[in-house]
Amino acid sequence: MKQLFLSITLFIFIVTSSTAQEEKKSFTNENPHEVLILKKNSHFKKRPKNVILLIGDGMGVAQVFSAVTANRGVLNMTQMPFTGFSQTQSADRYITDSAAGGTALSSGQRTFNGALAVDTDTLSIPTILEISKSKGYATGLVSSSSITHATPASFIAHQPSRGMEEEIAADFIGSDIDIFIGGGRKFFVKRKDGRNLLNELENDKYLVFNSLDDASNINSGKLAILTAENHNEAYPERGEMLPEATEKAINVLKNNKKGFFLMVEGSMIDWGGHDNNTAYVVQETLDFDRAIGKALEFASSNKETLVVITADHETGGMTLNGGDIDKGEVSGRYTTGGHTAVMVPVFAYGAGADKFTGVYKNTDIFKKIKEAFGF
Ligand code: MG
Ligand code: ZN
Repeated sequence: MKQLFLSITLFIFIVTSSTAQEEKKSFTNENPHEVLILKKNSHFKKRPKNVILLIGDGMGVAQVFSAVTANRGVLNMTQMPFTGFSQTQSADRYITDSAAGGTALSSGQRTFNGALAVDTDTLSIPTILEISKSKGYATGLVSSSSITHATPASFIAHQPSRGMEEEIAADFIGSDIDIFIGGGRKFFVKRKDGRNLLNELENDKYLVFNSLDDASNINSGKLAILTAENHNEAYPERGEMLPEATEKAINVLKNNKKGFFLMVEGSMIDWGGHDNNTAYVVQETLDFDRAIGKALEFASSNKETLVVITADHETGGMTLNGGDIDKGEVSGRYTTGGHTAVMVPVFAYGAGADKFTGVYKNTDIFKKIKEAFGF
């Protein structure tokens, strides 16, 4: 009798926990977003004045197609006419982390996992953001996580370890970056060395804000917009922060006559992948696609802009084993709670976009951007 009771309890436990697991694996999108109608990309041979690089952290082909399915068959990014694949390996690992993955994209060199814009001997290597700045271009960084997190940090900081977030924040000082928007305020003010980096930024003529709303009337000058103490919340709690921040950065940067370089990161596609959570992955990828929509809207009318979308690596070993495009319903399966080694997609639109077709290493994306700019 006791044994029967135990097996019934066990059976109920298995059924309820597998239902919970099942819920985490499936998602139905009730609110598909409108995608923009892209103008024809006949100007691809031109030299871009502006480059907008958008990185979906952890966004492999399954993540993209989960969002295509959830959005009823259309996305902004899948309308981009030039496509390729990037091989994401780092200097020391078959499977990269976001720091080494970011460094390959930002600096054109493979380094060891955890490292930010330093080579395998921990010597600083110049990033595309810094090279652009040195040539008189305006520069910006936008992230849905903390602005000191690995992906944005790999464009502006030079540190041997991604965990050194106070040192990373200090690397913003003197960089002369024109605008940065993301979380991470605590790394600028609650520091072991007692420095208040927000005061230092103000002394360096930055306007510092705690939200996009507070900065809504300002579209010129140098802006630091720190929207959270650490990371921003996940979507939907975060609201339209990422698309709005992308639009904001473009509005500020476009004032520079020479041109600009902007990197925008959809950080939490990766976190949904680590959590093997399809709803999380899909909602973050859709949010990232709305940010892409803002970049493409600008590039569609401004014929001197290149927009490149890619990822640093895939997360979760995600695949799709069920779905319905008409209903926006998608079901995912995962092979790991970590990253994987598979190639990730690259989408390009605008001036210089034809350079991005083919299969190449992550480091080639840096080289192609540099070549497109004519640096
Ligand atoms: Mg990241
Ligand atoms: Zn990750």
